[in-house]
Amino acid sequence: MALSDVNAAYITRPVSIAYLAGFSAEPHERLMALAVRPDGATLIVPALEHENAAAHSTGVEVVSWRDGDDPYRLVRSALDDTGRLGVEKDHLTVYAAEALGIREMVDIAPEVRRLRRTKSPGELDKLARAAAITDEVTDEVIGRLAGGISELEVALKLGAAIGARGATPAFDASVQAGPNSAMPHHHPSGRKLASGDLVLLDFGAAFEGYHADTTRMAVVGVPGARQLEIHALVLRAHDAAIDAVRSGTTAGAVDAAARDVIAAAGLGDRFFHRVGHGLGLEVHEDPSLDPGSLTVLEPGMVMTIEPGIYIPGWGGVRIEDDVVVEANGCRLLTHADRALRVVRA
Ligand code: ZN
Ligand code: ZN
Repeated sequence: MALSDVNAAYITRPVSIAYLAGFSAEPHERLMALAVRPDGATLIVPALEHENAAAHSTGVEVVSWRDGDDPYRLVRSALDDTGRLGVEKDHLTVYAAEALGIREMVDIAPEVRRLRRTKSPGELDKLARAAAITDEVTDEVIGRLAGGISELEVALKLGAAIGARGATPAFDASVQAGPNSAMPHHHPSGRKLASGDLVLLDFGAAFEGYHADTTRMAVVGVPGARQLEIHALVLRAHDAAIDAVRSGTTAGAVDAAARDVIAAAGLGDRFFHRVGHGLGLEVHEDPSLDPGSLTVLEPGMVMTIEPGIYIPGWGGVRIEDDVVVEANGCRLLTHADRALRVVRA
């Protein structure tokens, strides 16, 4: 990391520590920090994490503190000089800033996020593995869907199928049936899948810290004409966005490729979120594929492509895949069948 602008850096976001020091933990309310100096770095962890941190971190000295100790004393001695300190302003607390006596802060959070945007070959392998597990789970669970099963039960089946493959759920799965599919952030409920329901499944596996994120659609019983039509429209928008992904283009151009297809069908106002987001150690990270974004795509960036159409009271359709940016296009990581899957009523 470039420390030219600062005397030292105090990094506290767990995902930043995972990226920079190779050690991943959720310390909850206890202090965990990476103190970076020009001559090296110290990882400060709660005593509970010491053994794990010593075994899994790379290139850092590990020190730990016990409940009842003042962890900021360790931080101050690890930092040497806090005259001009690099910090993650969106994570640093006022309490910590005062405890450390920081005189001048430089926000290095954007730089850490920028480093994480393009993935190394090792990271790409883990993302591909997470996606492959996710594809298997898609086929297994959709193959067993039927009318009468509740959204919550389907979510549990997704989690169990991921666990059976040695991975963990990347996030709480969305399972949305019938009109619930029109609400992008609906949580699974006791609603039972019923004949005529669209069913939206948004989930993913995490493998060695790296996440997959996919959305597939099913219909219970015989699909209606409007369901087929909207699904085909979203798939056209999705494919147009994937065709637009390449090194040198902008995130906004990829968003526009999908948005133009949906707007041309008169449903532009029913696609009310960005077309996708970066994916890696976090399920949502840079780059954000917002409308109008001028962020230039680079080889090795990994992102989702997930246009959707949501019609209140009727239902929603979203199709989501994970892609890696390459020089002349992109490579899909998720490969499960994107058709509207028909399950028995
Ligand atoms: Zn998703
Ligand atoms: Zn997503």
